[in-house]
Amino acid sequence: MTLHIEDLVVEHRSPGRPVVRAVAGASLTVQPGEVVGLVGESGCGKSTLARAVCGLNPVTAGSITFEGRPVTPLGLRRRTLTAVQMVFQDPYASLNPRRRVGEQIADGLRTAGDRTTAPADLLERVGLPREFAARHPHEFSGGQRQRIAIARALAAGPRLLIGDEPISALDASAQAQVATLMRDLAVDSGAGLLFISHDLSVVRLIADRIAVMYLGKIVEVGDTAEVWADPRHPYTRALLQAIPKPDGMGVLPAELPGDVPDPANPPAGCRFHPRCPLAMDVCREKEPAFGPVACWLHEPA
Ligand code: SF4
Ligand code: MG
Repeated sequence: MTLHIEDLVVEHRSPGRPVVRAVAGASLTVQPGEVVGLVGESGCGKSTLARAVCGLNPVTAGSITFEGRPVTPLGLRRRTLTAVQMVFQDPYASLNPRRRVGEQIADGLRTAGDRTTAPADLLERVGLPREFAARHPHEFSGGQRQRIAIARALAAGPRLLIGDEPISALDASAQAQVATLMRDLAVDSGAGLLFISHDLSVVRLIADRIAVMYLGKIVEVGDTAEVWADPRHPYTRALLQAIPKPDGMGVLPAELPGDVPDPANPPAGCRFHPRCPLAMDVCREKEPAFGPVACWLHEPA
């Protein structure tokens, strides 16, 4: 097992403000060579969960285990930092504009103690010409820059790749290419890939399994084809219905009907109940704290 997240709680605390439970008890696994798509509206806790896996957010409760060892203690952070690599939404923010692309990839190779791979080899692996190593990030398109960021992540020899909205800043034409590239690289190297996106159609294209997050909770997880054919949580259904049909390449709307509740003050019972067309009395009182579909309509026998 590459990654095992169990009942993870991550709280954001700032002085004079209410505590926000950005991740409020989430469980998820990623196996070696497996692609898991994590979807949900912005602000639902996807990025916070990803940062916690990288050791960048303190864990309030629950556990994160990477290759059998806990991620939380600081002593393990260094090991985790090379074995887990994250690709962010904005490749410009994560690449240094003043340094040549090849030098930045070389940093990753050095950190991983890799003396045999050349930066140009990694550029080739992400579908770019070897000569690009001598150039600077501003010479490239968004899609090319994201490929460079991926090459730099690969330099560290990751066993888990995390993409936090890695395609949402790209042109439509580059989105599926970059997503497919990340999947192929992860699968070929036996690394797991946790791919965070609000674009369900791209997740469908690359993910083996899909996990749906709502207000800090994972409300449904399952095989991608099965979830697609038969979404069971009312929130998953709403997300899938929000995709424009003709080319299947749409994204979900910024908001579903009804207001997104304040994460600092989530609704009692099922967190989706104020927006759920199927809400029952029990939904307002008791939380459906079970999987793989956290909904009273799908309570395990
Ligand atoms: Fe809707 Fe109730 Fe299921 Fe929540 S538990 S999604 S309110 S039916
Ligand atoms: Mg985010």
